[in-house]
Formats: sequence, structure tokens, C-alpha cells
Amino acid sequence: RLTLKVHGTVFEVNLDALTNNLNFYRNKIGLGTKIMVMVKAFAYGSGSAEVASLLEYHKVDYLGVAYTDEGVVLRQNGIKLPIMVLNPQPESFAKLVEYNLEPEIYSFKLFEQFLNFTNRFTNKIFKIHLKIDTGMHRLGFVEQDIISVIDLLNQNPTIQVASIFSHLVGADESEHNAFSKLQIEKFEQMSQQILAAIPRQKPLRHICNSAGIIRFPEAKFDMVRLGIGLYGVEVTGVEQNALQTVGTLKTVISQIKHLQAGTTVGYSRKGVLERESKIATIAIGYADGFDRGFSKGVGKVLVNGVACPVVGNVCMDMTMIDVTDVECEEGDEVIIFGKDLSITELAQTIDTIPYEILTGVSERVKRVFF
Ligand code: PLP
Repeated sequence: RLTLKVHGTVFEVNLDALTNNLNFYRNKIGLGTKIMVMVKAFAYGSGSAEVASLLEYHKVDYLGVAYTDEGVVLRQNGIKLPIMVLNPQPESFAKLVEYNLEPEIYSFKLFEQFLNFTNRFTNKIFKIHLKIDTGMHRLGFVEQDIISVIDLLNQNPTIQVASIFSHLVGADESEHNAFSKLQIEKFEQMSQQILAAIPRQKPLRHICNSAGIIRFPEAKFDMVRLGIGLYGVEVTGVEQNALQTVGTLKTVISQIKHLQAGTTVGYSRKGVLERESKIATIAIGYADGFDRGFSKGVGKVLVNGVACPVVGNVCMDMTMIDVTDVECEEGDEVIIFGKDLSITELAQTIDTIPYEILTGVSERVKRVFF
């Protein structure tokens, strides 16, 4: 019987597990390859400032965020590491420069806008990260663009290319192995073309995400970009138990009711009881990130070690579950996902991926670090 009592819904973040996972990837990549850790989207829901502080202590080389504001928050929390911003909006360039953040440049329009902004400074060097589109077709320069990119670089000596990078579309899916290899080949060619044209600069090259690190070790280049693996979610190709679960989402039973067969539970009367049941109302709803797709038995949560199905519709702040077969009482802890309940399996039940569940844990859920 679990004895730990939590108050309301909390997302526990195990920093030792995070360190274990960082060391696992460090051993994989070996010395000589740098490591950027993606701490975008509130460090995959795990608390960007706290996670970044730990990463800075452990001397990772770079951090990656999606937006300028995410980088600003890190700086305001004292983070000194270099930070790449994947999708810098031109309106945020002033903040970007003020907070010493480094933009990804992915298009001519963005490049021109950045040059227009930086031209007002004299004698200041600006680091950028050039994004190459090798097959994702999201952001980035394509092969035909490279000559013009090189021209722009040669015309603007205050722009320093800190890195050239691309992103694999399916590094964790073996059916896309051939495509990943093509992407890596393309990246090698396109990045070489740029390197050869700016011999005085020494940009880092990187393409591998968590799965890429494991499955395409030949493509480590100068740096890798670690994301989901750091947070302990199983990634294809990683030995079992090598990674430790970082995040555990848990809540409590607010009330228990004994209800007759035929009674309905919750909104729209969707939870129809087929037997006399013990129903627990737990303090988590879709506003906390417990997806409404878990309604009507799709989702199962853990009460005192027993998987209990959701009854009826998930509400905004609460959910009802069937605890008929479990010994439990009001105030008991309920695990939504974590070490004992795989987030990957939970995600599969609503046809999504662990990334969405993790980043969907909402702001009002208290993060507890240990
Ligand atoms: N690099 C880029 C550009 C990304 O967008 C992401 C994540 O979305 C990552 C790296 C990290 O990927 P993963 O979490 O699969 O390791």
C-alpha cells in the first residue's frame, strides 16, 4: 500500500534519472561530439529553468528552444549556456540580441529581416544557425538555395555561422531507414558546400535527435540534439532499462461513491454502470493535460498498483474511475503515468505520442523536483 500522500495533481521530476539519461547518451556519443539538449516546450513539460540549471551544471554544450521567449526565461533564471532558438519571430529580434540568444535562420526572408535588424549595430558579431531542409519540408534552405546563402554570408562578415543543421523525419522508424540515410547524405553534401565557402568559420554540424544518436551513430557529426531520450521515454533501439523515467504525473482520489448497477456517471450520462460499482473521482481533468480522449474506458490509471479504467467523460478538472476491484480510500494517490505506468502505452491508447502527453501537462500542475 502506497503511503506517500500527494496534495492535488503534481508532476514529479526525478533529476537523478535525468542525469542518468544524460550520461547514457554521453557514453553513446563519446568524447569529441558536443551535445545540445532540447528544452523547448517547458523542457518537454519538465520545467525548463530547473532542467536547464542541471544541464548547465553537467556542462552540456548548447540548449535548444522553439521561441525567443523560452530563451529569455532561461536567461532570467541565470542560464549562461549558448541557446539556439528554432523559430525566432522577427518581432522578437531585439529581445533575442538583448538576451544573447542565437537564431535559426531557415529562409531568405528571415535572413534579410535579421540582417536589416543587425545592420544597425557596429562591430558586433551575430551567431546564427543555418537550417537545411533534407526531406522534412518544414523549415530550411534547399539545395538550390545554397549558392545564394553563401553569397549572403560572404557579403555580411558580421554574421557568424555557429552551426549548420537538419532534422531527420523518422529516425525512430526502421521503415524510414533508407530515407534517413538519404537525408544524412544530402546533409553531408549541402553542409560541405557551405563549409568550403566559408573556410574561416568553423560551424558545428548536427542532424541527430535522440533516436538518431542510437540508430545512426555514423551521423553524429560535431553535435547531436537530444530531446525525448533525456526525459526517459523509451526510444527505439535503446537497451531496456538503460533510461530511467524522469516524469511521473500523479493525483489523488477526492471522493469515493458506491453506486448501483444502471446508474450513470458524469457529463452526458456517458458512464453507464453495468454492475454495482465503487467509483472514485480523481483531481485531474483535461485542463491539466489528461486528454478527453481517455474518456469511457480508453484511459487507465493506477490506484495502489491496480489499473482502473476511466468511467464516462473526462471533465475539465476531474475524472471518474472505476475502483470496484481495488482497496483504496479518499486521499489515496493515483498514477497517471510514470515509472509504473508507461507513458508510451498511455499515448498509444489515444493514438498519439509521448511527446504530446508530456508537453500537454498544463501550467497549473505543480512541478516537484527530487
Ligand atoms: N531537433 C529538432 C529541430 C527538434 O524539433 C526536436 C524535437 O522535436 C529535436 C531535435 C529533439 O528530438 P527528440 O525529442 O526526438 O530527441
